[in-house]
Amino acid sequence: MQQRLSSPREEIGSAYDVVVVGSGYGGGVAASRLARAGQSVCVIEKGKEFLTGEFPGRLPELRRELQVHGGKMRSGSRAGLFDFRLGSDIHVLVGCGLGGGSLINAGVALEPEARVFADPVWPEELRSDGLLAQGFARASAMLRPMRYAKAADLTKVRALEAASAGLGRAPVAAPVVVSFEETVNPAGVAQPACTLCGDCCSGCNVGAKNTVAMTYLPDARAHGAEMFTELSVSHIEKHGAGWRVHFAPSDAKDGAGGHVDAKTVILAAGTLGSTEILLRSREKGLTLSDRLGMRFSANGDIIAFALGGRERVNGIGVGHPPKYVGDAVGAAVAAQIELPDANHLDRSMIVQEGVLPSALAPLLPVFFIAGGRLLGAAESLIKGVYRGPLSHLHTFFVVSHDEAKGRIVLDNGGVKVEWPGAGDEPVYARVDEALTKAAAAVGARYIKSPLAATSMGTKPATAHPLGGCGMGEDAKSGVVNHKCQVFDGSSGGSVYSGLYVCDGSIIPRSIGVNPLLTITALAERAMVHLARDRNLGFDHAAAEKLGHEPLPIV
Ligand SMILES: Cc1cc2nc3c(=O)[nH]c(=O)nc-3n(C[C@H](O)[C@H](O)[C@H](O)COP(=O)(O)OP(=O)(O)OC[C@H]3O[C@@H](n4cnc5c(N)ncnc54)[C@H](O)[C@@H]3O)c2cc1C
Ligand code: SF4
Repeated sequence: MQQRLSSPREEIGSAYDVVVVGSGYGGGVAASRLARAGQSVCVIEKGKEFLTGEFPGRLPELRRELQVHGGKMRSGSRAGLFDFRLGSDIHVLVGCGLGGGSLINAGVALEPEARVFADPVWPEELRSDGLLAQGFARASAMLRPMRYAKAADLTKVRALEAASAGLGRAPVAAPVVVSFEETVNPAGVAQPACTLCGDCCSGCNVGAKNTVAMTYLPDARAHGAEMFTELSVSHIEKHGAGWRVHFAPSDAKDGAGGHVDAKTVILAAGTLGSTEILLRSREKGLTLSDRLGMRFSANGDIIAFALGGRERVNGIGVGHPPKYVGDAVGAAVAAQIELPDANHLDRSMIVQEGVLPSALAPLLPVFFIAGGRLLGAAESLIKGVYRGPLSHLHTFFVVSHDEAKGRIVLDNGGVKVEWPGAGDEPVYARVDEALTKAAAAVGARYIKSPLAATSMGTKPATAHPLGGCGMGEDAKSGVVNHKCQVFDGSSGGSVYSGLYVCDGSIIPRSIGVNPLLTITALAERAMVHLARDRNLGFDHAAAEKLGHEPLPIV
C-alpha cells in the first residue's frame, strides 16, 4: 500500500532548518539530501499529491486537471496537474503536483554532450571541480534510467525506423526512468513492472515510472521531511539570521495564507515558479542580480506529428487498466534518432517517437481528421484511434538548441515569457525540414500545429522551460553561483547566506537533451557542496539496508 507523503496543512510548523519550495527534481533532491543530513525539512508544493491510480485516465478527469493562464485569462484550478501558460510569443507547459514535472513527463533521461558545458556561460568551477560527474552518478543511481530491452519490437519503434530513412540515421533505444521489472527502488518503495501502457504523460497509474514522488520524496519523508501541498509561495524576505517564506493556499477560497521561517531556503519551484518568487521578492526589496528573468530557453523542444502514412504506429496510450487490448504500446518514449552536428552544436537535434495519453483519445479525431469535430463523440471512432487512421499517427518529440533570448517578467499577478520573434528561431525551420523528410519517408503528411485553430495558434510551445535564474561567475553574469547560491546584489560574487535555487531555472542555456537528468545532477552537486560547506554528512543507512551502494561525498 503506497503511503501518502503529505501532511494536513494545519500541521505546518512555524520554523524549520530548511524550507524547500516546490517538489520537482531539484526540490526532491534537496529535501532528500538535507533530511538525510539531519536537518528539519519542510517542503511546500503548489499542486496536489497523486497516489498511483489517481492520475487522470479519461478526458473529463484530464480536463479537471487543466489550468490555463495567459494575460488576464485564467481557467482551471491553480493546483491543476497540467499547468499551461499561454504567451504572446511562446507557450509553456509544466507539471504541478507533489513530484512536479516528473508526474507527467516522458521520463527520457539523457546527459548533455561535453560541448554544452564547455560554453563559458557556465561558471568555470562547474567544469573543474569534478562534482558534476558525481552529480550525474547520484542522479542516475536514484532515478535509474533504463533502455527497454525489446524496444526494437514495438510497433511505434518500427515506424520510427521506417521514418528514419528520411534522416539517414537509425534509431536507438532511449534511456527512460521507468522500471521495466518489478523492484524495490533505492528509496525502499515497491514498484511493479511497466505494463507498456503508454500513458506516462498523463501520470503513471501502474507505479512503474521512477518519478520524484516514487524516489527522492519518499526518501526525504523516511528521513523526517514534512510535506505540505496546495500551498503557493508568493515571496521570501530576510528575517533575522534566516528567511521568512510567505505562502497562501493555491486556491484562494481555501483560507488565509501564512509564513514559515527557515535558516535555509531552497527555491525549487521550476523555471517559471522560482523566477516568479524571486521577481516578487525583489519588488518587495530583496536585492538581486539584474540578470533575474533573463536567458529563458525553450531547449529547442518541439512536439509535432505526421499522419496518413503507410506505417501503423500504435502511438496512443491504452492506460491502466487498459481501454483497448492490442499489441503493446510501450513507454511514452522508447527510441530516438540522434542527429549530432560535429561543427555546429546548435544544429544538433534528437528526434524521439512519442505516445499521446489515452485520455486524449476522444479529442484526436477533432484535431487530426477533417470532419472529426462531428465524429469525435462517436464511441466507435474513439476505439478507431487504436485501429483506424489515427493508429498511423506519428508523434515526434524533438529537442535541440535555441539562443535562450527569452525573458520572464511579472504580469497580471503571475509571470509571462517575453521573446519577440521566438518562432523565427532557426531551430524551428531546421526541425520542420527534418520532420518533413521523416514524414515523406513513410508517405505521411507532416503536421506542425494541429492546435492552430485554438488559442494556442501557431506559436512555438515548450515543455522544457529553462533559465531565468541562470548560473554565472558573479551577479553581473548570473543570478546564482555554481553552488546554486543566490548572489546578493547586482554586481560582485558575494551571495546570501542560506538562499539557493535548485531547478531548471539555473540552467543558462539550451542543453540539447531532455533536461530532467541535468537538473537532478546540478541539484545533487549543489547539495554535496552545501554539505561540505557546513560540515554535514548524508545518512546512507537506509540505502545500505537495501543493498545499494552509498555514494560518497568526495
Ligand atoms: C509533458 C512533458 C513531458 C516531458 N518529458 C520530459 C522527458 O522525457 N525528459 C526530461 O528530461 N524532461 C521532460 N520534461 C521536462 C521535465 O519534466 C522538467 O524539465 C522538470 O520537471 C523540471 O524540473 P524542476 O525541478 O525544474 O521543476 P518542476 O518539475 O517543474 O517542479 C516545480 C514544482 O514547483 C511547484 N511550484 C511552482 N510554483 C510554486 C510556488 N509558488 N509555491 C510552491 N510550489 C510551486 C510546481 O507545482 C512544481 O510541482 C517534460 C515535461 C512535460 C510537461
Ligand atoms: S508505459 Fe504505462 S506503466 Fe509504463 S511507465 Fe508509462 S504509464 Fe507507467
